[in-house]
Order: sequence, then structure tokens, then C-alpha cells
Amino acid sequence: MRKYEYEVVREDYTCSEDWGERYIPSERLLFCCKKDAIAYARNEHRLMRMRWEDNRGLPATFNVWKLYSNGARFLMGEESKEAKRMTEERLKEIEGMLRAMPSDYERRQWLEEHEIMVCDRCGKAYTEGYYFDGEYFCSDECVDDVYGAEQSLIWMYDVPYEDEQWLLHGNGRPYDIADLVKYLEEHYEESDNCYWTQWGDIEEQEIADMVNEKGLLRRR
Ligand SMILES: [Zn+2]
Repeated sequence: MRKYEYEVVREDYTCSEDWGERYIPSERLLFCCKKDAIAYARNEHRLMRMRWEDNRGLPATFNVWKLYSNGARFLMGEESKEAKRMTEERLKEIEGMLRAMPSDYERRQWLEEHEIMVCDRCGKAYTEGYYFDGEYFCSDECVDDVYGAEQSLIWMYDVPYEDEQWLLHGNGRPYDIADLVKYLEEHYEESDNCYWTQWGDIEEQEIADMVNEKGLLRRR
């Protein structure tokens, strides 16, 4: 199992080229998985630096940072050369294996077994996005394109049928999307059937990026 270590740094920290010098850890926390760490960061609105050992026991930290919608950022150090080489080799192997498969159906099955989903609308591979009652969508654009923004938002909450009809067509219903979101949040529980979630982690996202870049799946 991969070991994760997340370090929480000062809230007033600003990201720059020389972050290594200016980085001052104020607190160190350990989480068993990235999901828990993200949940923590979202609650605390803290800037975090992430380090982990991969399943081969190699220390592998990445020189990227991600900005989450609420402002929680993850800073990751530079990936070691050896880890990078192994990642490249592994991606090459996976590319060859996927290319040898007879169709998208088999490729998609392999990807899903490895926690990489394929968007039912555009055919993009992704690790973080929508699950919609048996369907998969990579983005707001894709889910809205298929079901419409209002309907897809309503399905993300446990809304009784009569309420749903009123929210879609009734008199005095929430006026725009922002009002609708607010109304749904205030009146209903989040749905267990339609939601945004994360499947794979960084390693899986690397495979998804490679699949998209190399055009290994038919895009729509
Ligand atoms: Zn999509």
C-alpha cells in the first residue's frame, strides 16, 4: 500500500519559483489516502505539500501544484529521476498493451478496472468527475450537454418527483442556476446515485492523460 504524507504549510504562503526556500512547514499531518487529505484541505483552506512513497518503495514527489475550487492548493516537490524513468517505462508498456486490444470496449474495461473512467459524452479518460446513475461524465459541459444544467443539478439531490416537476417548470421556481443550487442545498440531501467523485489517483491520472494524448480511445 502506498504511504502518503501531507504537510500543511502556512496559510499566507504564496507560490513562486523559489518555493523550496520560502516553504515553512507549520504543521505536519499524516493521512492514509489522498481523499482524506483533500477533505481536510477543503475544510481548513490550507496550502498543503504532498509527499508519498510509491508502491515500489521509491520516494516520488511531483513538481506540480493543483488549485482546488475552494482555494486549497497542493504543492508537490520534484519527482526523482529514477521514479520518472520508471513511470515513463510503465506508461509505454500500458500504451502497447492498450493498442494491442481489439476495440475500445476492451480498452475501456481495462481502464475502469484500474479506476480510470471514460466519459460517455466525449470519450475522454478521467479519474475525477461525475457518476450519474450508471453513466460517466468528465465535466459539467458533458453532463449538461446530455441532460441540461437544471435537470443534472436536480438529480444530484434526493428530490421527490413533484418537487422536481416544480423546480423544472413551476411558477415561482428558483430563477437561475445559482438560485437553484442554493435551493437544492438548503432543502435536500445529496444523492447517492448522481455525484462528483474521484476514482484513481495521480498514477491513474497519468495513464488517463497518456490515453487522451495518444488518442487511444475514439473521441466523440
Ligand atoms: Zn466528457
